[in-house]
Amino acid sequence: MLGQMMRQELTISSLISHAARYHADGEVVSVETDGTIQRTSWADTELRARKLASALENRGIEKGDRVATIAWNNQRHLEIYFGAAGGGMVCHTINPRLFPEQLVYIINDASDRVLFLDRTFLPIVAKLGAHLKTVKHIVLMGPRDDEAAAMLPGLMFYEELIAEGNDAYEWPHVDENSPSSLCYTSGTTGHPKGVLYSHRSTVLHSLGGNQPDTLNISSRDSVMPVVPMFHVNAWGVPYMAPAAGCKLVLPGPNLDGESLAKLIDAEGVTLALGVPTIWMGLLQALEKLGSQAESLERTVIGGSACPPPMIRAFREKYGVEVMHAWGMTETSPLGTVNTLLKKHDALPEDEQYKIREGQGRPPFGVELRIIDDEGHVLPHDGATQGELQIRGHWIVDTYFMQEKSALTMDGWFDTGDVATIDPNGYMIIRDRSKDIIKSGGEWISTVELENIAIAHPDIANAAAIAARHEKWDERPVLIALRHEGATITEDALIAFYDGKIAKWQTPDKVIFVDALPIGGTGKVLKNKLREEFGDVLISA
Ligand code: AMP
Repeated sequence: MLGQMMRQELTISSLISHAARYHADGEVVSVETDGTIQRTSWADTELRARKLASALENRGIEKGDRVATIAWNNQRHLEIYFGAAGGGMVCHTINPRLFPEQLVYIINDASDRVLFLDRTFLPIVAKLGAHLKTVKHIVLMGPRDDEAAAMLPGLMFYEELIAEGNDAYEWPHVDENSPSSLCYTSGTTGHPKGVLYSHRSTVLHSLGGNQPDTLNISSRDSVMPVVPMFHVNAWGVPYMAPAAGCKLVLPGPNLDGESLAKLIDAEGVTLALGVPTIWMGLLQALEKLGSQAESLERTVIGGSACPPPMIRAFREKYGVEVMHAWGMTETSPLGTVNTLLKKHDALPEDEQYKIREGQGRPPFGVELRIIDDEGHVLPHDGATQGELQIRGHWIVDTYFMQEKSALTMDGWFDTGDVATIDPNGYMIIRDRSKDIIKSGGEWISTVELENIAIAHPDIANAAAIAARHEKWDERPVLIALRHEGATITEDALIAFYDGKIAKWQTPDKVIFVDALPIGGTGKVLKNKLREEFGDVLISA
């Protein structure tokens, strides 16, 4: 043998062990379901996670068994992330905003053995009761609560489970290719599908996703993932945080702008991450409170397209840098993050903003390409649009319990997004392939139409959809939400498109609504809008 380097498995437990050893007193701050604030440390989190793993093992939960959560972003949820996966089980995070039938489907499909839940979700779970065929233990994430016990016979209590645990328990050996967590896609059509992450993919995502040109989290940061821990593992932040040893702020159930603004000030948050709808609320609250969010340096915005004015508002009013990011449940999720290159310093500010509006570049560990309908690879010239495909260390291969790989013959995952990529690798999402408007054979980007509308000072939010059309097959219709008190008319909003895009791309119609339908992960449900307004251009 010529020589050899040491081999160690890339495991979830190694992340939390590192934090306990080298950032023992690093803070973990958690807003509990009852609104109280709990403060612990990385050392404490690791100890309680180990005790939880040992208690689950003693209760007969085996390696590979699915341990589900229906919970907010809080301390106990964090402990379950590490306790379940560290003990070799699979942490299955469930989106509580799903319909009851979808919850039943997902829990049965995953064959969950244990179900942890926050008090908020007890009434929902109590109703599902008999439909949950595989669940052996339901555990309320808190101390004993007699009122709750009366609502659900056999209910167990988290703090009692932890007390059963052995504090001398050691993390077991786990193969890095074994599964560590499970998350279902939003499933707007058909049944949701499970994506099963491995220890290896998760650790590589933590390392690759946290480089200086991506999330850049260090031990000096105070990081607040507002993106839910049930939505693609809160973008991987709960795993990156112990590796970096930063302060972690878990905001619990109150995600309104005012609560978040106060938490940012109180906990000196330097980096916060979430979907655009959350930050719209925060910007309004900062204005109302007259707060400057002094500590906040960066926000990562993703999950759906970040409206361009939001990037300016954060930067110009509050000195906060927005990093626009793109990803999917299938991509762990980080696929791209937007930060500028050195050479961009020389560009005029408006051009820098133009780059920032896109979804950014892939970190080391993933690659992107675009292809046409026949599968030909298209040039990265910043203009040619194609189906976006991705491959890398933390990208799905085969969905949970499916036999067939989800990849193309040559090993890429088709994202269902339509994008351009420029010569520096900056990617811009032009649309979801099922949302894009095909008018007389030409494509119209709904994202572009929405961005223009949202830039109008009277418009709070907007969604463009393809409406059926007798002559052109499809034509754009804009569904818009005015700011409170604003009175802009349909004609004025249509006129606002003049000179910004080609005439034939301008919406045929604007419909003002009081609210847009928002799904469980904070995205506008365009399929709902298409159902409602898809025929408005067809003459009766
Ligand atoms: P999900 O798996 O629920 O996280 O949804 C993934 C999808 O959300 C992607 O395929 C995109 O269509 C969309 N998405 C995520 N981030 C962005 C972004 N920054 N801009 C536009 N669309 C996004």
